[in-house]
Order: sequence, then structure tokens, then C-alpha cells
Amino acid sequence: MTDHTTAASGAQPVLLRGGRLLDPASGTDTVTDVLVRDGLVVETGSGLSAVAAEVVDCDGLWVAPGFVDLHTHLREPGFEDAEDIASGSAAGAAGGYTALCPMANTDPVCDAAAVAESVWRRGQEVGLVDLFPVGAITKGLRGEELAEFGELRHSAARVDFFSDDGKPVADSLVMRRALQYAGAFDAVICNHAEDPDLTAEAQMNEGEMSSTLGLPGWPHEAEEIMIARDLILAAGLGARLHVPHVTTAGAVELIRAAKARGVRVTAEVTPHHLSLQDHLVSSYDPVLKVNPPLRTEADVTALRDALVDGTIDCVATDHAPHAPELKDQEWEHAPCGMLGLETAFAVVNTELVRSGLLDPITAIARLTTGPAGVRSVGAHGSAVATGGAANLTVLDPQARWTVDGRGLHSKARNTPFHGSELVGRPVHTLLRGRFTLRDGKVEA
Ligand SMILES: [Zn+2]
Repeated sequence: MTDHTTAASGAQPVLLRGGRLLDPASGTDTVTDVLVRDGLVVETGSGLSAVAAEVVDCDGLWVAPGFVDLHTHLREPGFEDAEDIASGSAAGAAGGYTALCPMANTDPVCDAAAVAESVWRRGQEVGLVDLFPVGAITKGLRGEELAEFGELRHSAARVDFFSDDGKPVADSLVMRRALQYAGAFDAVICNHAEDPDLTAEAQMNEGEMSSTLGLPGWPHEAEEIMIARDLILAAGLGARLHVPHVTTAGAVELIRAAKARGVRVTAEVTPHHLSLQDHLVSSYDPVLKVNPPLRTEADVTALRDALVDGTIDCVATDHAPHAPELKDQEWEHAPCGMLGLETAFAVVNTELVRSGLLDPITAIARLTTGPAGVRSVGAHGSAVATGGAANLTVLDPQARWTVDGRGLHSKARNTPFHGSELVGRPVHTLLRGRFTLRDGKVEA
């Protein structure tokens, strides 16, 4: 039996001294020491000491569970010019992540056990983050025939989360079958919410700005119609639905109302949709082209409020690397997508925590317990307590830094935050007690 949580052995014990422990699973927010040995948290408390432990001064820093990303495009297999599992894992470790869920839209598509297992194994070999591959909903992402859910579920990769992300499952009957079939395993269906008939020519959010710029618009209804349909189907079946990258105020209302009447729905929002708006597209900088598109100020406000009140369960990056020669084209021809792993914490900290909207422990919850509650990710996003796996990140919430796309670990450079000053950065990341990021440097 393969185990995602096998403890590392032989590594030197680590004593994280005097950090502010933010542990959403237990509600702990206190300055304390954390002692890590053999891949586990062995003790928390003040004034700890341990023979032969490496002491890490965490004064002024936050100690938190390692982050979990439900929505990452690692591009391997098939598109390694943009990213591969090694570079994407390094980006994850640099961003404070210990678990990533790579999306299925690779080549070959992750619609069978062999693909999921090879991605999972490659992640283990690289050893910087644990990978929990996402299985495709339909074979070849064609939206017709269901992928091999049972085979994927029982593979070494233990896939319990399915998405054709990048493409919606447009056919209602196929979506209904997917929810029904996944329900048998209590698996989660995550449908890229976009009515393709309404977005066939779309280049940006439909509204005042798209009229001004003369670019074909992407109406908010395209997202909301698909979410409404999926909520109706999920409700009827009692199945679990996860809504990826929510971007509109109307979508938030639909999810809020569905949760209130007991539909088993969860949702995520990206750092870029929490912080950037469609007026920026007037620059025609292709780095800002993303699917779903950047929306309006009113939408951003609704997304922030929904993250605060828990209507949206978690922050997910939708990290979508593209090779420069592909992305650096004129707006119309550039593919959609932005990097996210290495700036996610900084964006959330800068835009939501420092502005007073989110308290630190809730912000950490949206990056840890939130996503861990959506799908099973082993010992990630769990309590920082005696006997728990030492999957941790240590953050400097005061660090000011200017994002340089060329200095990131990703192979790609398509970050919309290039040149922006952000506040907050992971300093150390530990995967099962071993440093994957130390003093801001990824450990090879
Ligand atoms: Zn998507």
C-alpha cells in the first residue's frame, strides 16, 4: 500500500523558536516554539529545547501549516516548455505550499490511472511538494464519455477529484452522469464554469471596458448559467460539486444561496481575481489575459466578502504557466493564464490581511484547512500538533519585495505582478520535517 504520509527519517530535528503559530485546525494563534523530528511535530510550547536540533529563529514570523493548492497547472506531461513537475514543485515550495493538485489538461490527458500515477511518482521523485493529481471528468477532455473514475480512484495516486478544467462539461447529461458516478466514491466534481456558446469570441470581461476597447466580451452570465445548472444537478443527486475560480458577484450569490439550502458545494477564488480588475486590460498587456477574465470592482468586492464569510472556502492559484514565445503575442492571440504559486500568499497578505479585511488566521485557513476540506490531501492543511506531520511554512508577513518575473522558480514568466511591490513572503517551507525552502531558497 502506498502512503502519501510516510515520515522522512534521519533528518536533523528542527526547532522553530518563538514564531506566531497560526493553526486554523485548532484555532491556535499564539507565540510558541515548534519542535520537529522524524517528519513529525513532536512538541509545541514555550522554552523548548532539544539535543542536536537545528534552531530556527522565528521571532516576528508566522508558523503555519504548509499551503494546499487545489488548482495548479504543472504542464507535464506534454507542455514542458512552459513548466514541468520539477520547476512547478520548486515554485510551490517557494510559495509556502506542501501540496499541489495538478490539473488534468496535460498531453496525454490525466484520464487514466497510468497518467495519474506517473505524475504522482514524478512528484515523489522531485520531493519538494506532494502531488495529488486531478483526474479528467471525460476522456480526452472531449466532454462526451466519462473517464475511468474507478481506476483513477484506486490507483497509487488515489484520485478523488475530477475536472476537465480549461474546458467546461457543456452537456448536461454528461455532467449529471459525472456527478452521479463520482457520488459513488464520494468524489468531487469540479467543472470549469463557462457556457461556451456565450463566450465563443470572448477576449475580456463584457462591460464598459470591453465596449471602450472594442474587444468581444465575456459575459458574467456565461459563468453564472453554468454554476446554476451544476448546482441544480448536484442538489438533485446529493453529489459534491466544487466551483473553481469564481469571478462574479452573481456567482457568489448562487453559491451562498445553495450552501444555505444544504447543497454540497465548495468554491475557490484566485489571488488575481481578488486583486485585479478589468480596467487594467486597457494596457493590452497579454499577461492580464485569463480565463475566466478579470472582472469589475463590484465583483472583486463580492469575492473578497465571500472569502471572508466562508461562502468561498479557499484560495486556489490556477497557476497557469505559458512559454514566453506563446504568451508574448498581441492580446488577441495570446493564450489565457497567469502564474500564481509564488505570489499567492503575498497577494492575500497585501490585499486582504494588511487592509484589515481578513484576520491572519482566517487567511491561513483559506490556504490550508479550506482546500484540505474540499478534497483529501493526506496530512496537509491539518493541525500543527504533537504527532502531526511536519508539513509547515514559516512566513515573514512584513517582508516587502518587488516581484521580478525573471527571478521566479517557474519556467514561465507570465506573472501579472511583475514590478509590483507586495508585502509578505514564505521564508522556510518544510515537507515532512525536511526543508524544501530555507531562508527563501529552494532546496535542491
Ligand atoms: Zn479553469
